Formats: sequence, C-alpha cells, structure tokens
Amino acid sequence: FADRDGVIWLDGELVPWREAKTHVLTHTLHYGMGVFEGVRAYETEKHGTSIFRLKEHTDRLFNSAKIMMMDMPFSKEELNEAQKLVVRENNLNEAYLRPMAFLGSEGMGLRADSLQTHVMVAAWEWPSYMSPEAKELGIKIRTSSYTRHHVNISMCKAKANGHYINSMLALREALDSGCEEALLLDNEGYVAEGSGENFFLVNKGIIYTPELTSCLDGITRDAVIQMAEECGYEVREKRITRDEVYVADEAFFTGTAAEVLPIRELDGRQIADGRRGPITERLQTMYFDAVKGRLPNRYDWLAPVE
Ligand code: PMP
Repeated sequence: FADRDGVIWLDGELVPWREAKTHVLTHTLHYGMGVFEGVRAYETEKHGTSIFRLKEHTDRLFNSAKIMMMDMPFSKEELNEAQKLVVRENNLNEAYLRPMAFLGSEGMGLRADSLQTHVMVAAWEWPSYMSPEAKELGIKIRTSSYTRHHVNISMCKAKANGHYINSMLALREALDSGCEEALLLDNEGYVAEGSGENFFLVNKGIIYTPELTSCLDGITRDAVIQMAEECGYEVREKRITRDEVYVADEAFFTGTAAEVLPIRELDGRQIADGRRGPITERLQTMYFDAVKGRLPNRYDWLAPVE
C-alpha cells in the first residue's frame, strides 16, 4: 500500500506517497496512543466531490486528542483544508480519507515527556468494502467472544489507535468462523457495536440502538437517527440483549466504511426473512441520497473539495 503514486499531507506539507515515512521508534507504534478518523468523500450532483460531514469528523478527531491528552499542533480549519487538499491533489472523485494524529520518536517509554504530536492525512479510492449483494441481502454475523471496551478501561468516546486491537481480534474470529462481521457485547453482556460499525435493530416499527456508553459516537449513527426521526420513526437508545436481536424484525450496522448495512443472521439465527427489511432499506436509500448530494435539506452535511 505504501508503494504507489500520489501525495500524503504530513505535518503541514504534501509529501510524495512513497516518502511519507516515520521512524521505527515512533511512540504510537509501540503503545498505541494515537487518534484517527475514517472519512469519505463522494461525487455529488451539484457540489462536485464533497466530503461527508467533514466538520463532525474533525471535531471528533480533536475530541479524541483531548481525551487522550495529545496536543494538536494544527487548527481544525487547517485539518479541514488538508483533507480537501489530499482529495484534490490525488485527483480523486470519491475517496476514503484517513487523518491521524500520532506521537513521534522524540522519546521512548511510557514516561516520555518530550513527545510531539504529528498529523497525517491520506486519501485513496476505496469503494464500499461490502458487495452489492450484501447491501441488499445483508450479512451474517456472530457474537464475539471478546468483550467491547469498558469506559473505565479505555475511553470509548475517543477513536484511538489502540482500541482497534479489540476490533481486529473480534473481526478475525468472526471471519474465521465463516461470518462477515462481529457483534461485540459490553462488559455487562449487552450489545455494544460491530468491529467498526454502530448497531441498530427494528422491532414493531420502532428503531433501537445501544446507548453510547460502550460504543463509538458514530457520525453515520447520528445521520441515520436524524433522518429516521425526520421520517417520523421513533428512535430509542437502550440496552439491547442478544436474544432481542434474534427475534427482531430488522437489524443493521452503520459506519463511514460500511455505510448502512443490513444484518440477515446472528449466531445462526435468521433475522425475520433473512434479508434487508423495509425500514433498513428506506434509511439506506436516504443515506446514499444524503452522501450523494440528492437531499437539499442535507446539503449542509457536504463539504465540497473545490
Ligand atoms: N464503531 C467503531 C468501533 C468504529 O470504528 C466506527 C467507524 N469509525 C463506527 C462505530 C462508526 O462510526 P462512523 O459512523 O463515525 O464512521
């Protein structure tokens, strides 16, 4: 992935892709203390290529840094400009963006006090990582044997590098057992989220999603809640158990990478008819309309790169 053309924004400058390197003693590589975002830009009809909810992603990046006590050497405006710049400079019509703040190699050990925060932003073409069939038929998932972070073990509101050890263990286990994604439970056994997605279920026309105690405050989650309420659906945040999911009418994941993704099976139990349900379909369609700039009342979610 490192051997390709293009440019990466690193500490305020555009660097050729192959030269955007860091030292093996980079602190974040050793201890995982870093924060990042996953952002998408879509081609839209009236606004050209636009980054979806750029402001919210940059705000979350800065909140993650604050929670982790990392000093950000750039302003939010500079980071927003950097994100637009990498999409433009790499000539991308649609893109996945990866901004990350990490601690450098200015010191070693947990007690290092001379560390500087470095910031990078990369962008590349990354089409939806689920097949078109998955978007319609849904995916098969399993409950993870790994518990999701507890708020007093790590900071669930931060999108921090080290948290993803837990996600990768859960995802690997799910893939190895023939599933497409994992469903992680919190330390009390209630549904938390997927390895990189928030979770929703629908029962008797009401939409439910876990409270934000053990899951990331997803920006897609927020978009879907706002659009569902606009459609007149009731959305309730509550504790959800595994068996509630088995007997739900519909279930789906949300996330920048996964977008709105139906779930057809959990732990060998088919959910309802085992395909995308009608409310999931409606919200999925609205989500794609929003990101593709087809909803005038959601134009404020778009940040055109030009
Ligand atoms: N939970 C986790 C653990 C994630 O990594 C992500 C992806 N950032 C999400 C939820 C979904 O968040 P968003 O909609 O902001 O991409």
